[in-house]
Amino acid sequence: MNETSAVLVTGGAGYIGSHVAWALHDAGRRAVVLDDLSAGRRELAPADAPFVEGDAGDIGLVARLARDHGCGAVMHFAGSIVVSESVAKPELYFRNNTAVTGRLVEACLEAGIERFVYSSTAAVYGQPESVPIGEDTPLRPINPYGRSKLMSEWMLADAAAAHRFECVSLRYFNVAGADGRGRTGQVSPAATHLIKIACEAALGRRDGVEIYGEDYDTPDGTCIRDYVHVTDLADAHLAALKHLEGGGGSLTLNCGYGKGASVRQVLAEVEDAAGRPLAVSGAPRRPGDAVSLVADAARIRDVLGWRPGNDDLATIVSSALEWERRLQGAQPAAAEA
Ligand code: UDP
Repeated sequence: MNETSAVLVTGGAGYIGSHVAWALHDAGRRAVVLDDLSAGRRELAPADAPFVEGDAGDIGLVARLARDHGCGAVMHFAGSIVVSESVAKPELYFRNNTAVTGRLVEACLEAGIERFVYSSTAAVYGQPESVPIGEDTPLRPINPYGRSKLMSEWMLADAAAAHRFECVSLRYFNVAGADGRGRTGQVSPAATHLIKIACEAALGRRDGVEIYGEDYDTPDGTCIRDYVHVTDLADAHLAALKHLEGGGGSLTLNCGYGKGASVRQVLAEVEDAAGRPLAVSGAPRRPGDAVSLVADAARIRDVLGWRPGNDDLATIVSSALEWERRLQGAQPAAAEA
């Protein structure tokens, strides 16, 4: 299979998956979207991409889709992503993230798909002793979410060692922002991520923002994260696909900028973009939060030649705010779904 083959995008109607489906579309590649619509929305994916509502762990369905559409690669985004939920319902995460990925690998082997790009996470590192975090940092996830994703990475690596099958796993840091052309963005009804919450507050959709912990050992006392624009992340997936198609072989790469921003810095940026102050209050630390997660981002730049074009917080925040404005202007049902 080569560049004329289609790419099966699981979770392609979700936040990151839909951005990647659009990036494939923009690059003139054929995407086939498989999504169970538990969190995604059909209209977030490109209208010209074949869409199938279904389970990424349905081996028969995936193998049939892959054959019918001539898929040469899978990009796997379908899964569950809320850390606190993973602590309360670990079995859900081991099913939706780990077991589904295992079945998807079986489907790939059955259908002869040899290329796989996996949506992994910095949560596989847990609470590293030092930053920036290189890919060789010990893997000590501190919650079921991180473990469910790390197990998937291992399954994919084992499959790659045993079969004609290659995988790039991308470990995402904090993904935020939205498509610059307003075609897709985050729609989760109960947001948990800082930038979305702050943008909702800036638009009056919530009363304010709580800072989870102001007594951390950081310059302003709040946690530090490496925020990555979702458009740059989508580009990294296309670069990973090209790498595999060029015979580059399996890899595991961090996807971050190597720049940290504190919670307070993020909130100041949102205030700047919105042109109004936020009602900010202090709150206890959130269980399971690491103090500082910043990528050592050298490898992805070296190996994939990734050159992010949106790597500053102001750009990320203004695109997130712009998307929230669009949601607000949309039908009430759409804005709330
Ligand atoms: N955070 C916060 N208030 C919120 C949401 C998040 O103070 O309403 C903090 C959170 O404690 C963490 C950072 O913002 O330090 C990023 O959290 P988020 O949930 O966006 O991403 P995570 O790093 O947990 O994947």
